[in-house]
Amino acid sequence: MHELSIVMEVARTVCETAEKNQVTKVRKVILQIGELSGCVPHFVHACWPAACDNTILEGTKLEIETLPANGCCRCCSKVFSLTAFKGRCPECGSAQYEMLCGKEFIIKEILCS
Ligand SMILES: [Zn+2]
Repeated sequence: MHELSIVMEVARTVCETAEKNQVTKVRKVILQIGELSGCVPHFVHACWPAACDNTILEGTKLEIETLPANGCCRCCSKVFSLTAFKGRCPECGSAQYEMLCGKEFIIKEILCS
């Protein structure tokens, strides 16, 4: 599962950040994941406990915020949801768009107790 390697990487980054700041316990990690990032939040959640095993992150909660995937139509400049309209402009029907957001995978916040 490709989410597992990504989640392991997130856990490693959080651990390093915590160590740098002499934090020994992390209460919660908040991730922002774009709808088109290729990561399924459900799987990310499922992989989290395994990634935290034997690290200072054991018992740390994971929260995921999903970011919408928006595109801007090259023909009429309308901004629309790429997932809801399947990459086709709802205004003029064009499939030519510029992706504005949706591929993010960001560690937004690390909360310490
Ligand atoms: Zn359009």
